[in-house]
Amino acid sequence: MKELILVTGGTGYIGSHTVVELIEAGYQVVIVDNLSNSEAKVVDGIEKITGVRPPLEVCDCSDFDAFKTVFDKYHTISAAIHFAASKAVGESVEKPLDYYRNNLLSLINMLKLLSANNGKGFVFSSSCTVYGQPDVLPVTEQAPIKPAMSPYGNTKQICEEIIRDATHAGLSFKSIILRYFNPIGAHPSAEIGELPLGVPQNLIPYVTQTAAGIRAKLKIFGNDYNTPDGSCVRDYINVVDLAKAHVIAVKRLIEAKSSDKIETFNLGTGRGLSVLEIVKSFEKATGVKLNYEIVGRREGDIEQVWANPDYANQVLGWKATSTVEETLLSAWRWQEKLATR
Ligand code: UDP
Repeated sequence: MKELILVTGGTGYIGSHTVVELIEAGYQVVIVDNLSNSEAKVVDGIEKITGVRPPLEVCDCSDFDAFKTVFDKYHTISAAIHFAASKAVGESVEKPLDYYRNNLLSLINMLKLLSANNGKGFVFSSSCTVYGQPDVLPVTEQAPIKPAMSPYGNTKQICEEIIRDATHAGLSFKSIILRYFNPIGAHPSAEIGELPLGVPQNLIPYVTQTAAGIRAKLKIFGNDYNTPDGSCVRDYINVVDLAKAHVIAVKRLIEAKSSDKIETFNLGTGRGLSVLEIVKSFEKATGVKLNYEIVGRREGDIEQVWANPDYANQVLGWKATSTVEETLLSAWRWQEKLATR
């Protein structure tokens, strides 16, 4: 019998790509999403790619009773991947209580319900934001956690602590915490991708929308940083590579391969790229010229961060393999597809 995996936030950006990889690896999936930042028709894209239509339960994980009905309906859930969370840094500064309520309550309900249902494994979406501006680069999982720069970042830190405390108090399952660097790109089929609502805050959707003529000009936030070309440096990781790491993590938990109750992994490429390098790579990969200007720094930006992914490479046997050009091309193909919807 196929193992059943619960994916919260499964119609979201990283969630939908992970659902595809889970199905292709032979798992059965049930998606839980409140559709606050995604669309139900994402499931159509998943079905087109995989030939399988996973059930979508429209439910808010912060509502314990509603979430419990999902566990009652699918009582054989083996493991869960918890993507469902609010993630806009700027909005979290304006609405901190909404962010703490949603992100913390959803996780707490998840841990209670998965444990009550004897789940075997739990994967949590965390972020390199927990490292702040690291003192040593590339950053390893041992780097100190820095004070959070936003309520959003703080929810990731607190959620990691909640998982630790709950694990030590006794949960039915082991957990894997995945700290993502900067996920970008789309599925090569262009059937699923990132769906930013309104004006994009992240670099790549802004780049693709500028290239498509939806935005007049990309603003590059600062060229006076202490980096080789003065613009900020990040570790941009292909979303499908990232999704595959979740499948490996789930398998590791279900097969009880780890002796540790909690494992934490950096998911990045190990390669830092500047904003200007991204612009050049995008132009090279797509042949589309980008209109951009250098403006002042964006408040709260980290100067540079990229991963040391050795631990994930060695222990999970996982590696990000896509080139940045193919990844940027996939983002562009998805943008072109969006224009036809
Ligand atoms: N960035 C930019 N223009 C934009 C959006 C982002 O220059 O319109 C820069 C931003 O300052 C940062 C990098 O791109 O250096 C990545 O930003 P993003 O918001 O995608 O990710 P994060 O800051 O969370 O790493």
